[in-house]
Amino acid sequence: MRKPFLAGNWKMNLDRKGSLALAKSLREKCGSRTDREVGVCPPFVYLDEVVRALAGSKLRVGAQNCSDEIEGAFTGEVSARMLKDVGVSFVIVGHSERRHLYGESDELANRKVRQALVAGLDVILCVGELLAERDQGITERVVARQLTQGLKGVDEPDLARITIAYEPVWAIGTGRTATPEQAGEVHNYLRGVLAGLYTDATAAEVRIQYGGSVKPDNIASLMAASNVDGALVGGASLKLDSFLSIVEYK
Ligand code: PEP
Repeated sequence: MRKPFLAGNWKMNLDRKGSLALAKSLREKCGSRTDREVGVCPPFVYLDEVVRALAGSKLRVGAQNCSDEIEGAFTGEVSARMLKDVGVSFVIVGHSERRHLYGESDELANRKVRQALVAGLDVILCVGELLAERDQGITERVVARQLTQGLKGVDEPDLARITIAYEPVWAIGTGRTATPEQAGEVHNYLRGVLAGLYTDATAAEVRIQYGGSVKPDNIASLMAASNVDGALVGGASLKLDSFLSIVEYK
């Protein structure tokens, strides 16, 4: 049974006061829910305080990125071990903004996945096609490559610590959502790829989130789609009311 996992990616938004206020309000409103997993991903500099504000609740705190290196002379980088040290429980890897704005490759995403696992963090590994790739009919090829490369060297027991997020790039921050059918098609396909890489039984345990302009008014239909086990939410996770409505979808 896959428990729905709803995670808010705050990106480079909110200040210290706003981050703490949102975290504390979420704690009050949904901090003891156990029927679904809820997480927030604040900017690095607020992680420590948000972790402390949510300590003892059921809410999870994730980072938006991590280094592919363990430690050393890597100016500006933050290691998975440091994230673990301040109480972060998971990290987003391979977000489309990292891939397309900062040129991160599948290989780099894979190194980050492996560093995160070694450090004891869970991972949300993002995959998703550009609009041009969907138009060319190569969505499956693109997401299969991202998934296969991203999971290279990840053994079967560690797969339990990975969530996949299918995020069509054309739907991120654009207000244009994939239909539940479009999402379901790709999610079914991704689960098949996972089964090919591991086993049917292991693949069946992995949660696959949808991400891309998820809002209070489309979450229920997306969650009803085939193999959709949660959502990675950007813009709509920045306001208490909208994220709460998403978390409390019926
Ligand atoms: C995201 O940041 O992963 C995302 C899906 O953003 P938005 O919900 O704003 O489209």
